[in-house]
Amino acid sequence: MTARILVVDDIPANVRLLEVRLLAEYFEVLTASNGPDAIETCENGKVDVVLLDVMMPDMDGFEVCRRLKSDPATAHIPVVMITALDQVSDRVRGLEAGADDFLTKPVNDLQLMTRVKSLVRLKSLTDELRLRASTTRNIGIEELLSRNYASEDTMPKVLLIDERKSSVERIQKMLRDRADLDVTGDPHAGFFQAAETSYECVMISTAFADFDPLRLCSQLRSLDRTRFVPIILLAEEGEEERIIRGLELGINDYLMRPIDQQELTARLRTQVRRKRYNDQLRASVTQTIEMAVTDGLTGLHNRRYLDSHLQTLFDRAVARRRPLSVMITDLDRFKSINDAHGHDGGDEVLREFARRLRKNVRGIDLACRFGGEEFVVVMPDTDGVVAEKVAERIRAEIAQMPFAIGADGKTIEVTVSVGVSSVLKGVDTVAALMKRADLALYEAKSGGRNRVVAKAA
Ligand code: GH3
Ligand code: MG
Ligand code: MG
Repeated sequence: MTARILVVDDIPANVRLLEVRLLAEYFEVLTASNGPDAIETCENGKVDVVLLDVMMPDMDGFEVCRRLKSDPATAHIPVVMITALDQVSDRVRGLEAGADDFLTKPVNDLQLMTRVKSLVRLKSLTDELRLRASTTRNIGIEELLSRNYASEDTMPKVLLIDERKSSVERIQKMLRDRADLDVTGDPHAGFFQAAETSYECVMISTAFADFDPLRLCSQLRSLDRTRFVPIILLAEEGEEERIIRGLELGINDYLMRPIDQQELTARLRTQVRRKRYNDQLRASVTQTIEMAVTDGLTGLHNRRYLDSHLQTLFDRAVARRRPLSVMITDLDRFKSINDAHGHDGGDEVLREFARRLRKNVRGIDLACRFGGEEFVVVMPDTDGVVAEKVAERIRAEIAQMPFAIGADGKTIEVTVSVGVSSVLKGVDTVAALMKRADLALYEAKSGGRNRVVAKAA
């Protein structure tokens, strides 16, 4: 994981110290010795995480953070405040200024790397979302995306697995109004609970009398349902080895006891945000794919989908020596429906037609809106005789029941013409199959409409 880290400190020796350690982990490092320079670097460059000293002359770290967070161009860049060890009030002020996390001086290596990596991961997800939002702006997906943005305000659902009562009570108190917290003292029960409920973070204590907490971490990581849930380890001073093992196993972060409330809140927030961004990205990918192959008006598959799948269905039928049929439907005199009832009325007819079409075909049939008022149904394992019956059933269902359109319950008579064709054994192609269905449809139209014509094999 490579990323660009901006180190901001007015004392050159401090900058150098952090720079050397970050370079050793193959991060790219930028530096600034004062607030205005830091802000400028963030505005111009591709900064992934800012490590920001609090105490600086002229503009202090709080002010720098506030300015970065209030400018939309830089607000998404994670900021880690570096405070003096005993300055609890600094942490509170840092969080108020919008800081994402903090480290205390002297900065411990393990903490530095864990926090930086955790925030770099978060940043790469935000970047991905921003990128996707800007590239998809034209096709209206951005709006869909933003509508689904997980609100930062909703309380995260968190599971705490900790057998020590006093510790549990302290954490419950710290997270009151900040998390929807479930607690269990039994690690086995905790594992099942985590698998059953969709938590946004699981916090695991290392202090079990006779259970290895890392076993639980690895179990959670290997189960599909919990693979992506953020895990925070609650460790004791002196457990560095164990934490490092935990990080290798895929825990996301850790806290040292005694737990500091600000730290707990900040770390939890980062993990929950990352989880929500992740979920959102996954959902948006699925949604983008669905939208690309779905007809917006009727919810049926669109022509693009048909084009990409018909060949597969055809090849499969030929390979298995199974029949395959297609029908093309075209609404009769649809232009006059539009003329008489307006385009919206026409749209309603199309939606209702699609509904009836879907109702009359099987789940394995592929029903698509081919374009305009033309629809195609591909029917695997169906020979010409059966396909013609299905087509006839659809034709009858359309003609017999007038379509209700508009709020006033007005009804109109609609009819449809259908062309059917089936795969010819031996030499046949998708193009020829579609061509025959199209010819059949043409015959149905010229023969008087409201009828089915089948081009038997
Ligand atoms: P025919 O019986 O020969 O099929 O006559 P037709 O009027 O149905 O045929 P034609 O293909 O000439 O007209 C189709 C009309 O469908 C023209 C077009 O304006 C309309 N149409 C295409 N797409 C849509 C749509 O999404 N919504 C609405 N309301 N009308 C559409
Ligand atoms: Mg038509
Ligand atoms: Mg037409």
